[in-house]
Amino acid sequence: MVNGRTHVLFVASECMPLCKSGGLADVVGSLPSALTKCNVKVSIIIPFYGLLDDEIKNKAKTVAELTVLCGQQPVYCGLKYHKIRNRGYYFIDNQHYFNRDKLYGYHDECERFLFFSQAVLAVLPHIEGVDILHCHDWQTGAIPLLYHLYYEYLPGYQHLKTVFTIHNLRYQGRFSIDYAKTMLGMNERMPQWNDIEYFNDLNIMKAALFHSDYVTTVSPTYNEEIEYAYYGEGLDGVLKSIAHKRQGILNGLNVKEFNPESDRLIDYQYSDIEGKQKNKEAFRKKYTLPNDNCAMIGMITRLEDQKGLDLIASVMDEIMSLNIQFVLLGTGNPYYENFFRDIECKYPNRSRCFIMYDEALAHQIYAASDLFLMPSDFEPCGLGQMIAMRYGALPLVRETGGLKDSVKPYNKFTKEGTGFSFANYNAHEMLQIIKWATNIFHNEKEQWEIIVKNAMSEDFSWQVSAKAYREIYKQLL
Ligand code: ADP
Repeated sequence: MVNGRTHVLFVASECMPLCKSGGLADVVGSLPSALTKCNVKVSIIIPFYGLLDDEIKNKAKTVAELTVLCGQQPVYCGLKYHKIRNRGYYFIDNQHYFNRDKLYGYHDECERFLFFSQAVLAVLPHIEGVDILHCHDWQTGAIPLLYHLYYEYLPGYQHLKTVFTIHNLRYQGRFSIDYAKTMLGMNERMPQWNDIEYFNDLNIMKAALFHSDYVTTVSPTYNEEIEYAYYGEGLDGVLKSIAHKRQGILNGLNVKEFNPESDRLIDYQYSDIEGKQKNKEAFRKKYTLPNDNCAMIGMITRLEDQKGLDLIASVMDEIMSLNIQFVLLGTGNPYYENFFRDIECKYPNRSRCFIMYDEALAHQIYAASDLFLMPSDFEPCGLGQMIAMRYGALPLVRETGGLKDSVKPYNKFTKEGTGFSFANYNAHEMLQIIKWATNIFHNEKEQWEIIVKNAMSEDFSWQVSAKAYREIYKQLL
């Protein structure tokens, strides 16, 4: 506790506004402010990456320097601290593991994040009054296990509780079982061995599910889906067995950052469809697309299988045969990177495919698009569809996970709805809905404007969800 307030330490591998590869960073960056409003103190701890801003790297003060035991191996660990806009950020410093030019994608990924997990527990005596460690995704999943193995009976640690949030069950942190021996100091005779072993591999997510006091997922529907083999990524049985301590809470958005009325990254700030039109025209001018009346379909996504790209690929020519322009921003799987580069070559007057990561361009595409495609195979929560709605780009989604929980499909009889959706993972089902939506755009302007208004006035703030997290913390303490 700090001044009578519960102190939660968010442990994560990325966090806005410091570093980001996807939605995880948005959540870790925006949920704390909402929790602060609920009278919960939140600090954040991430690795001291070489790619952080120089200003942060220079200003962060060293709070402690210690040696962390990874298995038998003593490793240097610095704890740094810096306050940004009233939020306390802690950093785990080890140049060897974190002074690199990317967040992820190295051969020693397991070692890096097992070190990080060990280090977070080791530095806790240097952080005031932490009651709860709230860990996010597999990179921090070893913490609840390590707590039970080595810390729970130590003075100053006994009261601690752990919460683990699954942002994406597909990425489990599955590595050679040898790491359990070398980095975690475990062996087959330990009773916890079954909790970490998965088909002769180490599975860090599995360990987190068993050893956390509470587990959350990022939408209620995903929380139900993952009990089925299709969505459970091999852990559906484990997830069923911990149903009593598991809950789905829908992510919110940083509504200040994603606000078309004040967004400095777009050409014209706006609050209605006319303002949106100006942004579309500016975008077309900048990227030399003809300024005609057709609908602009946008996609901003990691180019990975999860995102339903095979559906798009299989009917891409049919989509392009409609009266539309197509704009994509994304990076990832080289197969899809090349596929979309080819699409731009094939349809130079009607498509732009940006194979890159670019925050400002993302905002401009949200502001310019009329429809926003997200036909995911599975989607733990998804932020793209929510951002799109804020910017009046109507999401067209598959009914799964957080997409189902956040997009209300348009009902032509009641005129209700904030977007469009289809149920089965089927390219032609998707295509039908694209045709229906673009038909409304072109031929039923008034209807379209009603849906845009509905979408833009939806509440995506963290308020309700932050209260649900606060209740979990309360229960645990
Ligand atoms: P996921 O976390 O699975 O990647 P989400 O929809 O939850 O998907 O979050 C993705 C976030 O990352 C959104 O804010 C989206 O705008 C952003 N994003 C994804 N790809 C890019 C890119 N290439 N450039 C800029 N922003 C991107």
